[in-house]
Amino acid sequence: MRVNFLDLISAYQELKCQIDTSVSRVLSSGSYILGQEVDSFECNFAKYTDSTYAIGVANGLDALHLGLKALDIGIGDEVIVPSNTFIATWLAVSQCGAIPVPVEPNLSTSNIDVAQIEAAITPRTRAIIAVHLYGQPADLTPIFKIAKKYKLRVIEDAAQAHGARYKGKRIGSHSDLVTWSFYPGKNLGAMGDGGAITTNNSKLKDNLCLLRNYGSRIKYVHEKIGFNSRLDPMQAAILNVKLNYLDEWNNRRRDIANYYLKYITNSKITLPFVPDFADPVWHLFVIRHEDRDKLQRTLLREGIQTLIHYPKPPYLQKAYRSNYSSSSFPVTESLSSTVLSLPIGPHLTMQDARTVSEFLNFLA
Ligand SMILES: *Cc1c(COP(=O)(O)O)cnc(C)c1O
Repeated sequence: MRVNFLDLISAYQELKCQIDTSVSRVLSSGSYILGQEVDSFECNFAKYTDSTYAIGVANGLDALHLGLKALDIGIGDEVIVPSNTFIATWLAVSQCGAIPVPVEPNLSTSNIDVAQIEAAITPRTRAIIAVHLYGQPADLTPIFKIAKKYKLRVIEDAAQAHGARYKGKRIGSHSDLVTWSFYPGKNLGAMGDGGAITTNNSKLKDNLCLLRNYGSRIKYVHEKIGFNSRLDPMQAAILNVKLNYLDEWNNRRRDIANYYLKYITNSKITLPFVPDFADPVWHLFVIRHEDRDKLQRTLLREGIQTLIHYPKPPYLQKAYRSNYSSSSFPVTESLSSTVLSLPIGPHLTMQDARTVSEFLNFLA
């Protein structure tokens, strides 16, 4: 491959000394569940995200699931979700026995179209999940306005948006709960699974600490029917190292994105649009092209690896399709058939970005 989509090995190589030291510190500590490494990451991540509390959990899906549980979302409740998202956003709602109610994206940003939310609200609606897709914040202010009017809770799925800003303020505490994934390929990635929830609400924080740990605060005393979903201390130790580099690595992503935005001039390609309120962190750089599949094959022949986020929306997946009608989501379908994610990441070189851009322009 001439240009890989994402280079996780170089990410490890750059920080190898510090990561190895932190992992061996955990191994020698004899403390392998929660404990000091997790406490310290929670403290650092809360500070980074401009929030009061961070609660480390096993992965991003659990962060959403436990978050919804902490808000008492349950059987028969309806939760508004983007039709255009990774399926985890929907699965968390279903795991609570609640019903995901999809709302179409805005074609230019790919994030939830706030103008279509009110039409999806029913007397059973309890919450809205805003997803900051591709690392670009969704438009939160109108969502909060609707939530207030209908007395709904708001959760942000920030699995792709570590470090992003909405109207100048870091994503992390704009709404009731913000959920995070540290899946290896995310902007802040562990070396295995990991996740967190951030909030400014101390009651929700207490509740989440119980839910992730068998409903227990004191060993063998159980206040709730909880889960086992704790952030692993080995991962917390690695995340503590990587958090120090997040801004720098996000800046490198931004440089690549700015290069693409400036130098890809092929008129058949639609480049990503960034609204004034958003400061994205470019988890993905997603272009659109009418003949996407052919473009992807042509790029691959040149050794340029691309991916599709996402080829099939949740409501068309076998897991959900019997409950939803495909004809209701034309924008989502148009996106899923035209989007293509170009290589981006902190270890892509400017020469790589140039190779990709020049080839895309050459195709004309
Ligand atoms: C990655 C991701 C998740 C799930 O995170 P995991 O840690 O893989 O469970 C949820 N939502 C979105 C938008 C994601 O990109």
